Amino acid sequence: QVVVILNNYVSGFPKESDMSMTSNTIELKVPHDSNGILVKNLYLSCDPYMRIRMKKLQGSYPISGHGVAKVLDSGHPGFKKGDLVWGKTGWEEYTLIESPESLFKIQHTDVPLSYYTGILGMPGMTAYAGFYEVCSPKPGEYVFISAASGAVGQLVGQFAKLLGCYVVGTAGSKGKVDLLKNKFGFDEAFNYKEEADLNAALKRYFPEGIDIYFENVGGKMLDAVLLNMRLRGRIAMCGMISQYNLDEPEGVQNLMTLISKRIRMEGFLVLEYYHLYPKYLEMIIPHIKEGKIVYMEDTAEGLESAPPALIGLFSGRNVGKQLLGLFIV
Ligand code: NDP
Repeated sequence: QVVVILNNYVSGFPKESDMSMTSNTIELKVPHDSNGILVKNLYLSCDPYMRIRMKKLQGSYPISGHGVAKVLDSGHPGFKKGDLVWGKTGWEEYTLIESPESLFKIQHTDVPLSYYTGILGMPGMTAYAGFYEVCSPKPGEYVFISAASGAVGQLVGQFAKLLGCYVVGTAGSKGKVDLLKNKFGFDEAFNYKEEADLNAALKRYFPEGIDIYFENVGGKMLDAVLLNMRLRGRIAMCGMISQYNLDEPEGVQNLMTLISKRIRMEGFLVLEYYHLYPKYLEMIIPHIKEGKIVYMEDTAEGLESAPPALIGLFSGRNVGKQLLGLFIV
């Protein structure tokens, strides 16, 4: 089978040559003394956190990430042949998952299966937990979202609109800005690459300041947002993609504002919120079916498309949730 591996430690902007396609042989059944499951990977997810892992590990190793898969064989009592699952898997056609306990079994199959890499998977839970649990949002509040058209951001914006907030997003192209306003229903959106002065841009869209900032990019954007937060504003520190390719992080100059304005800036990890997944599904599935929430995906086909798709996240090549279709069903 085909496997995508990382050749070595990555420094700076990741390149296609940092990854290689190789092959190995895998027996298509679970070893008889194993508690694991053997899955066929149907969709693989490209996620920014995968870049962070590339910094730490040395030597070549098969790339792992989230995906949607079908169980071909099982040595685990909780899974049987034919089950559909989502969770951590490998960038390869088939994966033997030794400890499948953290996988989620897919119950709803009347929605696109690929959604379990995005809106119904890890990014969906990130948007849900980050917005509702970390931001403590209230109707009418002023909400700002960076990387707003991406896998997480497009959902946070729609959740905030459903609640009755004023929502502004930023993204890196005119096409994405149009999507934010016309497809996802944001009140306003702007292209951060066209703003020489981010502080002035934020003042234009938030003359009364920002109550909630959903932080996806970090760096200069965070610095400018800090100057525009309202009293007792909240910042959900979801990610800082602008920093992932830097060897030295850019200094944030205005952190003292947190103290003077009593702003809560809170980091969170989706990992700690998965107990809410059933509650999330109860809320989101009807919204999807009724068309109240839309979701945009950017699907590349085949494992050979995996390296450029992953790298594209760092130049904004993806429009919506970036995923890979392996055996499109
Ligand atoms: P996206 O689908 O939004 O893809 C990444 C986007 O980031 C790109 O499309 C690009 O859009 C933007 N971007 C890339 N480089 C820069 C840069 N230098 N400055 C500004 N924007 C940039 O990714 P996700 O929605 O999956 O992830 C969004 C954030 O959430 C990431 O920071 C990620 O690490 C974080 N995250 C955190 C989790 C947690 O548990 N805390 C879980 C999941 C994700 P554009 O064209 O607009 O520049």
